[in-house]
Amino acid sequence: MKSPSEIARETLKLLAQRKLSPTPDQYAKIFAEISGEPASASDGAEEVLKNLAEHLLSNDQFSPSGIALKKALSEKDWDQCIKETQKIASKGGEDAQSWPVLIKNLLRQIDLPHRGLTTTRKKEGVETVIARFSSKPEVLYEKLHNLIRSWSASPMAETLADAIPVDTSSPVASSPAPAPSLPLSKGGEIISKLAELLAQTLESTISAQPELSDEIRQLSSQVRLIRTTEQINELQQKLRHLWLKVELRGTDKTRIQEGLVRLLRLLVENVGEMVEDEEWLHGQIKALNEIISKPLDKHVIADAERSLREAIIKQSLLKKSLTDAKSTLKNLMTTFIDRLGAITTSTGDYHKKIEGYSEKIAKTNNLNELGNLLEDIMQDTRIIQTNALRSHEELLDTRRQVEEAEARIAKLEQELSEISELVHQDQLTGVLNRRGLDDAFERESTRVDRNHAPLCVALLDIDDFKRMNDSMGHHVGDQALVHLSNVIRETLRPSDAVARYGGEEFVIVLPDISLEEAAGIVERLQRELTKRFFLHENERVLVTFSAGVVQREEGEPQDEVIGRADKAMYQAKRTGKNRVVKAT
Ligand code: GH3
Ligand code: MG
Ligand code: MG
Repeated sequence: MKSPSEIARETLKLLAQRKLSPTPDQYAKIFAEISGEPASASDGAEEVLKNLAEHLLSNDQFSPSGIALKKALSEKDWDQCIKETQKIASKGGEDAQSWPVLIKNLLRQIDLPHRGLTTTRKKEGVETVIARFSSKPEVLYEKLHNLIRSWSASPMAETLADAIPVDTSSPVASSPAPAPSLPLSKGGEIISKLAELLAQTLESTISAQPELSDEIRQLSSQVRLIRTTEQINELQQKLRHLWLKVELRGTDKTRIQEGLVRLLRLLVENVGEMVEDEEWLHGQIKALNEIISKPLDKHVIADAERSLREAIIKQSLLKKSLTDAKSTLKNLMTTFIDRLGAITTSTGDYHKKIEGYSEKIAKTNNLNELGNLLEDIMQDTRIIQTNALRSHEELLDTRRQVEEAEARIAKLEQELSEISELVHQDQLTGVLNRRGLDDAFERESTRVDRNHAPLCVALLDIDDFKRMNDSMGHHVGDQALVHLSNVIRETLRPSDAVARYGGEEFVIVLPDISLEEAAGIVERLQRELTKRFFLHENERVLVTFSAGVVQREEGEPQDEVIGRADKAMYQAKRTGKNRVVKAT
């Protein structure tokens, strides 16, 4: 069966050969003729082109062409449709090239007795073509193909004597098959229209690729001169080259831009939510600034987007509960005051005051102020106890509800402030993540540099962790990571920062102690860990680690310090594991 691209290519060729203009209807008719499928009576060409697009979509290699064709169809942009099918045709043409078939044909045709053509003459033809086009395989293919076609178009010789040439004036190689290489009147028109479109498309990419503008301009002026399919073939290679370049340049840059724009949009969309909690906002902006001040790549941006999005979702959920709680509280008070006003109409003075309170409550968003207002109202209410005895009880009740709401709000606010922390924490173990480590290292190194105090860093890597995962399961591996984190936190001082540096690697920042002391502490941690195994299916699971400990030189940056610790850690691995090695 013919592939969609082959059908499309042949359809275009036939359109040209029959000198038909490429209207959707004509295209559909020819397409149906070649594919053997009847063109739908209702939608005609459009239906056929839609079918072609669907065919292409179901084929991995052609699905981008399918998408482009579908788009052109939906916009009823027939010029674009032609352009897309032309693209597919040239793509398919490339795949259809088959050298073994060509060579087989060549050999067969050389041997066949053609009238007026000797074997020697045919060989000369082949040699001439090879000599002229050997550096351009695609053109060579086309020319050899044309040569074979021109021979096979000659009538067969009855006898060998017939094969002797009558006219030797023009060598065969210089007169290849006429149809595709000569400018065609109607076909040529289509080609020149397509060439113009292609040239315009090329030029439209200049704005996005200013570095390539010279190359693009030169190519597009060559494209404009295309009149024959041969010229198209010659330019094909150059065009493909250019697309590759454009694609290579485009993808990463565009993704980074898109990533940044998405990040910005996330921030802007959520500023309304955030401004209520300035601390949180500053935290996020600082994190974002750190990210965009480093060299960008799409992974960094994707990471940033993910953590920001996560935090924003949590934040907006909490914010909603918080706002709800506040407005319930406000409604409660306003309703109460309204009612209070109604039952105390007899006391004009008091009524006025109450109105004032109502207004104040409507204006404030501040919990302390709401509390004070409540206090004032209660005072005023006590003065007119006779009228407000019942109200007083209601007030007490309201007060209880206010207290409950306040407690809820306090809890929500606490959770909210923890979210900022979350972004700096490893989700599995609760110790710092890499961003948290960056902060801690920055903070501690600035401090010790100021005080000329020592700062040590230990890098821990669990021994044979892969084996533990493989034999007991990933879940037990995770449990071991949590266990180790807990033992570290419980054994060290709260001022020592602990971070998960990678899968099963941890970094500890130990300020104000010497290298000897730091190594001692890490060894103590190892002893503690041998005492505190954990159980899995009633079996003891013992976690050990190897560590490299290093003392930071004054001013030494984090990556160098950790690099030295890593070297020492590997030495600990090489010399038997479950050891601590000091970097020299
Ligand atoms: P060595 O003693 O030389 O350090 O050997 P190892 O097996 O610990 O080292 P290796 O680096 O070969 O393997 C580390 C393993 O840690 C591989 C990976 O499957 C596992 N791992 C990484 N992150 C996690 C995690 O989050 N959970 C679990 N369960 N396993 C993890
Ligand atoms: Mg490792
Ligand atoms: Mg390991």
